[in-house]
Amino acid sequence: MIKVKFWGVRGSIPVPGPETLKFGGNTSCVEVDCGGEIIIIDGGTGLRPLGQDMMANGFGSGKNKKLCIFFSHVHWDHIQGFPFFKPAFIAGAEVYLYGLKHSDTDIETALRGQMISPHFPIRLRDMPSRISFKELKADESVRVGEAVIRNVELNHPNRAFGYRVDFNGKSVAYICDHEHSDESEDRIAKFSKGVDLLIFDSQYTPEEYSGADGGGGRKGWGHSTWEMGVELVKETAAKRLALFHHGRDDVKVEEIESNAKKRFPGTVAAYEGLEICL
Ligand SMILES: [Zn+2]
Ligand SMILES: [Zn+2]
Repeated sequence: MIKVKFWGVRGSIPVPGPETLKFGGNTSCVEVDCGGEIIIIDGGTGLRPLGQDMMANGFGSGKNKKLCIFFSHVHWDHIQGFPFFKPAFIAGAEVYLYGLKHSDTDIETALRGQMISPHFPIRLRDMPSRISFKELKADESVRVGEAVIRNVELNHPNRAFGYRVDFNGKSVAYICDHEHSDESEDRIAKFSKGVDLLIFDSQYTPEEYSGADGGGGRKGWGHSTWEMGVELVKETAAKRLALFHHGRDDVKVEEIESNAKKRFPGTVAAYEGLEICL
């Protein structure tokens, strides 16, 4: 069984406040539990409460001291939680950080960079855990315990990777910070084929994306719509769809979820605390 838990579901910037209480205000972070192996996808501000939960469940004691984080890319909303991630402050903990090479930086430089003075009072190298960086090549696969994690190139400014986790006959694909396009359609569909759960970037409404709302459109900004998610589900025969990387308040996200459910009943708009067992 794979247990997926959402700790941050927002895109671009944390949005705490009364208008985002239902789905939560933290940015992207998803925990994928594969038989006790801790696999985390993205380190937005949702990583902070996940770290607190891990500590409450005894992380750092006995054999429970290893974790892996796979970063889709290094935009703020996917890395900003790491300096506040308590397990990385535990001496003896093994922290494996995976990411891709960007044209002018890489995962290690970016994560160290967000903690240099005067941006942050503690440097990454002073975190007491044993931190290892692993730069992934496109289409590379990594094994964590019995789980296999593969990646795919997404369509996003500055590059981003999507991930797919397969474990014990179950699978989840994380396609976030991605603008669905003719160029990427076949690649993403093949990558996500038959997954039990597809987590998909649904930041914009179709009206926002096209410009029908009068806002000038969002084409080329690197994000998708719920309609694109539903289309991808049809191509991949994914069993469930989790809308993710929300860009609007709770009322609007509820409306988006309701519209998507009419086209694909297996849709849920991801919210903080949502657990899906596959
Ligand atoms: Zn993002
Ligand atoms: Zn991004």
